[in-house]
Amino acid sequence: MSIVMKVGGSILKDEKGFDRVVDIVKGREDRQVIVISALYGVTDSLINAAENCVKKERAIAETLVDLRNKHILLINSIDNKKIRERAIGKIEEKLAVLERFLYGVHYLGELSPRSRDLLQSFGERLSPIVMQAFLEAAGLSCVFLTSEEAGIIAHGEYDRANADMKKTTKNLKKNLLPKLKENVVLVTGFYGTDSEGNVRAFGRGGTDYTASVVAACIGAGSFEIWKDVNGFMSANPNIVSEAKRVPLLSYDEAEELGYLGAEILYPKCILPLRDYGVSAVIKNIFRPSEKGTIISKNGETSRAVVKSIAASKNIAYVTVGEAAMVKAPGVAARLFTMIANAGISINMIATSETNISFTLDRKNLKKIVKILKSNGSEFEVVEARDDVVLLGVVGEGMKNTPGTAGKLFSCLGRNGINIEMISQGASEINISLIVKEKELDDAIKCIHREFVEGEK
Ligand code: ASP
Ligand code: MG
Repeated sequence: MSIVMKVGGSILKDEKGFDRVVDIVKGREDRQVIVISALYGVTDSLINAAENCVKKERAIAETLVDLRNKHILLINSIDNKKIRERAIGKIEEKLAVLERFLYGVHYLGELSPRSRDLLQSFGERLSPIVMQAFLEAAGLSCVFLTSEEAGIIAHGEYDRANADMKKTTKNLKKNLLPKLKENVVLVTGFYGTDSEGNVRAFGRGGTDYTASVVAACIGAGSFEIWKDVNGFMSANPNIVSEAKRVPLLSYDEAEELGYLGAEILYPKCILPLRDYGVSAVIKNIFRPSEKGTIISKNGETSRAVVKSIAASKNIAYVTVGEAAMVKAPGVAARLFTMIANAGISINMIATSETNISFTLDRKNLKKIVKILKSNGSEFEVVEARDDVVLLGVVGEGMKNTPGTAGKLFSCLGRNGINIEMISQGASEINISLIVKEKELDDAIKCIHREFVEGEK
């Protein structure tokens, strides 16, 4: 059987995480592909560096020192001198290439989306060198393929590209599968290349997506997403001490939870799984015997109406009014075109005859308010707030359970929590709410008590 494993940032923090990956890979007979992301925090540093290096030449050297230290520190924990030296040599080679690119953007004085994607892919080009050294030091034979070498083809916009599944399938069959017979194969996550060879990133958290693309394309017997937590929980355990692991989720549930801010999974990775009928299991690398969360077509086996409560603080809320809005056609279209033209995407919308409310990422609030208040704008900003959060409850069981919304609203009402905005998607498997940030913990606790702790 072939297994595709995704390992990522949070477990690539220190030696311990690498050792655990080695233990797991070593303990199995199966053919294993590891799709790997950058070391913890490295993509963030690369994005900052790319921006800083445009203006400050000094930032180039600083960036390289920082990356060299992070990677070599890990490699230095390996006993085998030959493996260590070879890995350090490869890190230096990649850093030399990165240095040239950083000078490139510095002398050009600009960072295009194309250069940005290329630069942010370097975390993924470096980390597999470390992983390969760890695996080899444990006596495993291991091949490392970059996304280019594996043939992961991307199309669509920079920084949020998608994989071309047909071409990628063909390429992986040719480039990856033959290597898998004798070796553990390491593949870089996060990006692919388009037909002209340009690097296109799949979006932050994109290694989950690469891994599910690979699992789908090669028809993996098993697909595992390794984390440092036991899978999805019914709520954030730092807020609700009674929170429990969610054993099973459907594709739709996992996707909704991802969008709602459960940081376990990049929601886009569900697409290839759904299209190709592949299941995924999320497991804890530090507790591999725990069952984790299985994500599959039929996630529903429990009677729980609400499986999980997720929240995102990265949210702001705007209400606009328009004097002539009542019965005037085209107002919403003009508003959303204006927002789209500013390159801003919105999440939730609620409208009445006189007002339109919507939510967006917090970082875009100032920009949108400025545009809405600019000369020539027909809109009036009634409210613009960043002291709110998005809270969502998710569960397939809601589809067949009348009264869920009523129960939810009255439980919040009883606890004195005001709901600022409500939306229930057409899929009926989630209800999203906007509440004040300072009331978030109380809201989660009371919903959990009502829906999860009550269930047997
Ligand atoms: N390294 C990339 C990021 O931080 C991709 C990933 O970790 O999944 O977004
Ligand atoms: Mg990640």
